[in-house]
Amino acid sequence: MRLPRGSHLVVASHNEGKVREIKALLGPHGIVAVSAGSLGLPEPEETGLTFAANAEIKAHASAKGSGHAALADDSGLCVEALDGAPGIYSARWAGPTKDFRIAMTRIHDELRHKGLTTSAAKFVCALCVALPSGEFQTFEGEVHGRLTFPPRGDHGFGYDPIFIADGMEETFAEIDPAKKHAMSHRAKAFEKLLHSGIFTESL
Ligand code: IMP
Repeated sequence: MRLPRGSHLVVASHNEGKVREIKALLGPHGIVAVSAGSLGLPEPEETGLTFAANAEIKAHASAKGSGHAALADDSGLCVEALDGAPGIYSARWAGPTKDFRIAMTRIHDELRHKGLTTSAAKFVCALCVALPSGEFQTFEGEVHGRLTFPPRGDHGFGYDPIFIADGMEETFAEIDPAKKHAMSHRAKAFEKLLHSGIFTESL
């Protein structure tokens, strides 16, 4: 699969924050990124049981709906002591108002019910590039760390205020966003995508 400079790529997300982050990653590779939301493409139901399966559902829906190549991201937090929860349900734990204080409190409560105050955890990101023909490739990245309560820091989003990456003392919401973006699960998945050689100078 090859996407030469100047190719159009639909970012299969209606989350403007995610679209902004992915557009910034794609810009240096001469790829013109447009969001699925701005094209009026519907959001498919995420019925997969893995990050990769859900990224593939979103990428295929946008590729077929737009007639262009599409890139989807599915990501979340996996807490070891909670058998990997919230995992693929990370967004859903925040409820219809997408309030991550609720989701972080739920993690804290479920750990306390097990007599724990913390746990090892990891962020996982699956990126899928799909073509309208149905051809696709998926890449995964992870960043490992541990949880801390109460939440700390104002940067980032989602579960960043309770996550401390291995080797660090500050949460992802306390460190400079550029530092997070250089080591995040999304950056690692994107690095694999780049190394696959999908973005080329010519066909
Ligand atoms: P998705 O849009 O279904 O992939 O949901 C991903 C959810 O996982 C987000 O809403 C966040 O709650 C969480 N998540 C993914 N990446 C990050 C991150 O880098 N920091 C904090 N939370 C994240």
